[in-house]
Amino acid sequence: MIQQAKADIESVDDIVIVTHTRPDGDAVGSSLAFSLFLKGLGKNVTVIVPTAMPEFFLWMPTADEVLTYTEQKSLADVRIKSAELIFALDFNDLNRIGDMAISVANAQAKKILVDHHLNPEGFASLIISYPDMSSTSEMIFRLICRMGYYAEMTKECAECIYTGMMTDTGSFTFNSSKAEIYTIISKLIEKGIDKDEIHRRVYDNYSENRFRMLGHLLSERMKIYPEYGAAVLYLNKEDLAMYHNQAGDTEGFVNIPLSIKGVVMSAFFKEDMDKIRVSFRSQGDVAVNEFASQYFNGGGHKNAAGGTMMLSLEETIKLFEEKLPTLKEQLDKQSQKDA
Ligand code: 5GP
Ligand code: MN
Repeated sequence: MIQQAKADIESVDDIVIVTHTRPDGDAVGSSLAFSLFLKGLGKNVTVIVPTAMPEFFLWMPTADEVLTYTEQKSLADVRIKSAELIFALDFNDLNRIGDMAISVANAQAKKILVDHHLNPEGFASLIISYPDMSSTSEMIFRLICRMGYYAEMTKECAECIYTGMMTDTGSFTFNSSKAEIYTIISKLIEKGIDKDEIHRRVYDNYSENRFRMLGHLLSERMKIYPEYGAAVLYLNKEDLAMYHNQAGDTEGFVNIPLSIKGVVMSAFFKEDMDKIRVSFRSQGDVAVNEFASQYFNGGGHKNAAGGTMMLSLEETIKLFEEKLPTLKEQLDKQSQKDA
């Protein structure tokens, strides 16, 4: 499989890399890392994100060259159409790339998926899927090594890989107990990355509004369900407007209730223009991906999932409260483990 990907890369010049909507550190990190690697091989590479990247990722090497589909649709469409090879990174289903899905589906280019989500959809002809991996960025590191190019990996490429590994594991606090992760980190450090500096660039670069909004969220928009060990956070359009919400401002909010003693599952509902964005996080064996796919038009990982609802905010919260009992057994078991 990897040798096939290598042969495919060697046989083309024009490559497009696409990743999911509301790109997170792993989406941006894996895409930029792979793009830097391919550019090093002399390829002409374009990275396209469906929606804007948060500002705190703009320091990443070549982030300024990324095309944003919502803002540069025609140019992006031209690149997608003329690409000889398309890499799809960090998503498993075309409906995760928003309006860009049609162009990607119609593109003549061979598509190669590199991802760590369960059950990849069959839109790609080569599927490199390892759901056990903590991040797609970790897979990119392994892919480059398996192709025999570790020596060629640059510091800039290593920085992007580290960023994705760090953000998808909550700075190595979950999904991160495999020894090999730290072997990889030591290899990235040998490339010259400053991991502490990367952490600061990502996590000490938020807007002031984010923290004012967080204050409001925690004092006015958090519900705890002690009998379930669950918590809900929500923000309506007015809340978001009041704090001038920008891409990335609510990143990570959903994790916060898990720090409360007795809370093993958390939900965050955010009102968008015409829909509700849903995020779930959980600890241990509480499978929020199944919960998200059964009731909230989504999916994801066991402990981090999301979805989209065409209901009102109130209806979405009501649905959550109605469906929470279906998780009772898992929640109780996890709560007892944590007690
Ligand atoms: P987040 O809460 O950060 O938006 O998403 C957490 C994880 O849930 C993502 O890494 C992704 O795997 C998954 N996810 C989020 N939204 C959706 C969705 O609408 N559909 C599916 N299938 N997965 C999603
Ligand atoms: Mn990821």
